[in-house]
Amino acid sequence: MEPLYIRVHPDDNVAIIVNPEGVPSGARFPNGFVSSSAIPQSHKIALVAMEPGDPVIRYGQVIGHATRALPIGSWVREDCLDLPVPPALSELALATAPPPDAPSLPEYTFEGYRNADGTYGTKNILGITTTVQCVAPTVDYAVRKIKAEILPRYPNVDDVVAVTHSYGCGVAIDAPGAAVPIRSIRNLALHPNFGADPLVVSLGCEKLQPVRLTIPGLQLADHVIRLQDNQGFAATVARICEAAEKRLQVLNLRQRVPCPASGLVVGLQCGGSDAFSGVTCNPAVGYAADLLVRAGATVMFSEVTEVRDAVHLLTPRCATPDVARDLIREMQWYDDYLATGRADRSANPTPGNKRGGLSNVVEKALGSVAKSGTSALRQVTTHGEVPTERGLIFAATPASDFICGTQQLAAHMNLHIFTTGEGTPYGLAMAPVIKVSSRTALAEKWPDLIDIDAGRIATGHATIESVGWELFHLIRDVASGRKQTWADHWGLHNYLAPFNPGPVT
Ligand code: CA
Repeated sequence: MEPLYIRVHPDDNVAIIVNPEGVPSGARFPNGFVSSSAIPQSHKIALVAMEPGDPVIRYGQVIGHATRALPIGSWVREDCLDLPVPPALSELALATAPPPDAPSLPEYTFEGYRNADGTYGTKNILGITTTVQCVAPTVDYAVRKIKAEILPRYPNVDDVVAVTHSYGCGVAIDAPGAAVPIRSIRNLALHPNFGADPLVVSLGCEKLQPVRLTIPGLQLADHVIRLQDNQGFAATVARICEAAEKRLQVLNLRQRVPCPASGLVVGLQCGGSDAFSGVTCNPAVGYAADLLVRAGATVMFSEVTEVRDAVHLLTPRCATPDVARDLIREMQWYDDYLATGRADRSANPTPGNKRGGLSNVVEKALGSVAKSGTSALRQVTTHGEVPTERGLIFAATPASDFICGTQQLAAHMNLHIFTTGEGTPYGLAMAPVIKVSSRTALAEKWPDLIDIDAGRIATGHATIESVGWELFHLIRDVASGRKQTWADHWGLHNYLAPFNPGPVT
């Protein structure tokens, strides 16, 4: 393979190296450009000579300023850049350029499960929600028994999932931050893939009493099993199994039926990003996001710390000034949250991100927001809240993969798209997770974990449009149960981790 780099924007003064083995010093590119140092794959090359203090530009945006003289053709490493100040939240343009609606694509449907409350499922799962960690091993025990002894009699039900977590007691339950995990657990219990019909297991003496979940019509007798009301472990498990079987009888009557694409709620996330993520997988996901929005679906992107440095690109795209103000409110909340922990958004990038050529959180954020495509932003929801609008939504979550996934499930995502450069075997039990790699090398290393290789875009073997359409069709196939993701094939399902910004006592 001849030396190859990718420049994203005509204003960029750096580009990233495509070759899997990197390039040596003196490598001559097809346009005659020559490297002046050895540069690894996905790391940046200086396209012009830079003096200390000169802006380093990628995606047409300043990602930092040179901390030293950078010769033309040299390797622009993490320590060659400083970190710019984030965009001031008080000076952002509010809904000044909302994109017009693209032509609708009404012909696309999927085969899903219709719920009585108007939501749609992509899986048919019996969910058993817990109010507190204390009951988790008991519920896990019951779930193993249900799956082995009862579930086989109900072939239309895909799975039995325990919604276990580390919350529920030993916490300041009335502190403002407690509202986040409580709302999240409540909305997990009502997830569309559970038929939106909760079954809750409580201990009895815990801080998070079932009534605090404020689930309308949640009757102790019908929906809640309280362990301290029961006599002995075996009888308690039998009681959970009995309640589960009643639910399985109802769930087993559900059939996949043609559903409008508006029943899809697709959550987008990246994890283990590299410098290719913003060039290959994230733009392809953005293209698919635009197709989904045109088909009537809801698409949510998240991860506040990975949006913060690109927020000036998003507030103009908001449908109304109120949506833009909601976005700013979520950014401010997170700035304050990080400040309380004596951190800031520079704490976001991981060693793997940096190994993958991402110099700082600004470069990471600019690549991350490519997932949102080009649609107008219709709504901003706070942590664990369920959106009420369709189209493109920003659902505030931390960027931590397993917390973001949990929070997007709480926001009633029924299918997850996960882009990755470094690679992770991540998956979720409650909704299918389609993993998209930023580089072909990762897809080749993990052919039985990565569902789509977007690295072909960098090598010219595919385009953003072609991978975007491929992903769009795969989303419909997976949502319809016609295709299985690798995570579901292997049963790789991460533990749920609701976000708890409140105090633990
Ligand atoms: Ca993430």
